[in-house]
Order: sequence, then structure tokens, then C-alpha cells
Amino acid sequence: MHDYQASAAWAQARDAADPLRQFRDEFLIPPHEDSSGRAVDSVYFCGNSLGLQPRAVREAVNAELDYWGELGVEGHFKGRLPWMDYHEFLRDDLAAVVGAQPNEVVTMNTLGVNLHLMMVSFYRPTPARPAILIEAGAFPTDRYAVESQIRFHGFDPARDLIEIEPDEPNGTLSLAAIEQALAKHGARTALVMLPGVQYRNGQAFDLAAITALAHRHGCNVGFDLAHAVGNLPLQLHDSGADFAIWCSYKFLNGGPGAIGGAFVHARHANAVLPRFAGWWGHDKSTRFQMGPQFIPTPGADGWQLSNPPILALAPLRVSLEIFRRAGMARLREKSVQLTGYLEWLVHTQLNDLLQVVTPADPERRGAQLSIRVTAGRERGRSLFDHLMAQGIIGDWREPDVIRISPVPLYNRFADCLAFAQAVQAWERAG
Ligand SMILES: *Cc1c(COP(=O)(O)O)cnc(C)c1O
Repeated sequence: MHDYQASAAWAQARDAADPLRQFRDEFLIPPHEDSSGRAVDSVYFCGNSLGLQPRAVREAVNAELDYWGELGVEGHFKGRLPWMDYHEFLRDDLAAVVGAQPNEVVTMNTLGVNLHLMMVSFYRPTPARPAILIEAGAFPTDRYAVESQIRFHGFDPARDLIEIEPDEPNGTLSLAAIEQALAKHGARTALVMLPGVQYRNGQAFDLAAITALAHRHGCNVGFDLAHAVGNLPLQLHDSGADFAIWCSYKFLNGGPGAIGGAFVHARHANAVLPRFAGWWGHDKSTRFQMGPQFIPTPGADGWQLSNPPILALAPLRVSLEIFRRAGMARLREKSVQLTGYLEWLVHTQLNDLLQVVTPADPERRGAQLSIRVTAGRERGRSLFDHLMAQGIIGDWREPDVIRISPVPLYNRFADCLAFAQAVQAWERAG
């Protein structure tokens, strides 16, 4: 139960009692110039798109620049965190965030690249089983990637790309619909590829249930966790998924274009799978013998191509260290309260204007609410522009949806109230 109230006193008291409140001070909150010309913190609800910068990032990046300047190539072996093993310094914290064993995860490349690399190994179509099953309205990269893989293998996306249509009133997708799609197409499906949290409507999926269903039909299963990682506590290992991929610049706060990540389930750690190989995936103990034959490092590390970009890993290392101290369980507890408050405000204060598209059940969503402006696109754009001008930063999705993500690491209950009050001011102004 909750005791939500639409008052500044209530929101401030709630923020003061928040056991995670000090984490906000570890982030740079973009400033906004208020009506009197003073620089104040903006109300930043866009962590689903680009997470904020941890203050400690600058020093961490500078440290690596200094090592490069002072040590040159020796930086691979010297310094506080030698570059040779640098990605391993992120591994345990990343594994904790996604609920994996350490050797099931790796930081590398970007999401789109990792999706293709994983499909090389886990999308092995045959004439009897050529299809990939995704959700209708998938993120463009995901759709382009699966479609191009189907073509690459000589199959026909018109027939072999199966898109499950939403069956729920708000445009979300029930587990029953996935079950029905698998009952119909499972025998000819090679890969089921679904999101952890759908980017447009904010729906969270039950990874374990989907994996169990798909495996029963003999399909491999991969998840795109772009909007789930750092947002929901995941149990990737226990879900049984074959692979997962994500980017790190959204809820993980790894910085613009941050290095991405991948999960490969432990049961594939030593499997002989087709893959696109590179020297950094070669067995670490013999990598520098530079032999002609590729022998993969067991686990997710074996999918690496190149020696990793240290300057991109440094911010993510800082960010993951914050996640370690905050803990996904505590973050989730606050997140449910915070997003619940935003939802309550929309229902009780803004019901005539706005409609939440994201599922109402907290188990079926993360931090993000996708909020439809019921008066349509033009009024919706006007409201969105008003919010931005007030320093309330969300993002716009055509034709009429504003995505607002209160992030438990740096957003406050007072931020949610500020959103509601800004919408009311806009409404009063006509
Ligand atoms: C953000 C996002 C991407 C972005 O992919 P990049 O390769 O990092 O540019 C892809 N898919 C989904 C579902 C996303 O939310």
C-alpha cells in the first residue's frame, strides 16, 4: 500500500526519508535556467535514453589518460588497473546487475554488433526451421538485424520473420499471445528474440517463462535488454536464456555510445559453436603465442573480437561500482515506489489529459511510463515542448507518447510532482 499525496511537503519528506537519496549527489544533473535566469537542476526523466554522468567518471577517464601519457605501452601491465585485464574489472559488478555468473557476461562492442555476433552462434536456420520470432513494433535495429540475418542465410523475411502482434488494449503483449505464436510457428522457429523491457510501451517481459516456452518448442532464445539492464533486477542465468545483449548508455549510465554487453549462458561456455572470431576471444593463456588456430576462451569472453577501448570502459566501471553499492534489490524497491507515485499522480491529477500505456502491474514494467496525450499529436507536442522549456526532460515518441523514466539512482519524488504540476500549469494556460 502507499500513502501518496500530491503535495510538496509530502514529496520532500519522502525524499528526505529515502535511504538511497545520497546517490543523486554522485551524478551531474544537467542545469536548467529558470524564469529568473538562475541555474537550477533540470528534472531529468530521460535515463531510459541517456543516463546521467557519475561525477567520478572524469577522474577515472583522466587516470587512464595519465597512465597512457606516463606509461605508454607499459600501461597494459602497470597502473592501478592494467589494460590487459581491464574488462575483467567490470565483470563481477556487471554479473550482479544482470543476475549472471561472472563468466557468462562480457563488456564489448555495441548492442547492434553484439546482436549480430550472437545470432552468428545462436541463429542456425535450416530449411525445416528457418524462422525468427520477434514482437511487432520492435526497435529498428532489432528488426533490421534479424531481417538481414534471415536474408544472409538465404531465407525470406516475408515468410520467416514472424512478428507477434500486441493483443492487449494498450498495445502490450500477453504471455498467452507468445504461447499461441509458438504453438503455431514454434516447430519452424530457430530463434525467439524478445526485449526485456519494450522500448516504446515500457512493458517488461517474463524472461524465464518465455525461455521455458521457447525451449519446449526447440527454439533458441535471446533477449535484448537495452531497456532492462540497470532498470530491473534480472536473473539471466536462472532464466535459462541462451544469450542476451544490451547497451550501457541508458539505465547503466555508461556514457554516450558506451561499450555494450553480452550474456552467454554457462551451458554454452565450452560448446563448439560457430562464431565470428577475433584474437581477444582466443584462450587467454595462449593468446600471445599468436598461433594460427583459434581456441576460444571459455564463457562469454570467447566472443570478444578486439582488445577493448579502455577510455570507454572506464566510465562504465565507475557506474557499475555505483550499482554495486546501491544494489539492484534496493534500487528496484525505490523504483517501484517512485514510478508508482508518478502513475498515481497521472491517474489522480491528470486523468483528463494523459493515459498511461505501460502496464499497471509493477511486475510488468520497470522505471519507465509511456504516457499518451489523449488529445492527439498536436496538443501532445505542445505539452512536450512546454515541459522541455520548463527543464522537465522526457522524450517524445510519435505519434502521441511522452516517455518519462524516474530513475531511482538520481530522481526524487519531488521530480514526479514537478512533472504533474508543470502539466497542470500547461493545461491552465490552455
Ligand atoms: C537503445 C536500443 C538499441 C540501440 O542500439 P545501439 O546498437 O546501441 O545503437 C537497440 N535496440 C533496442 C531495443 C534499444 O532500446
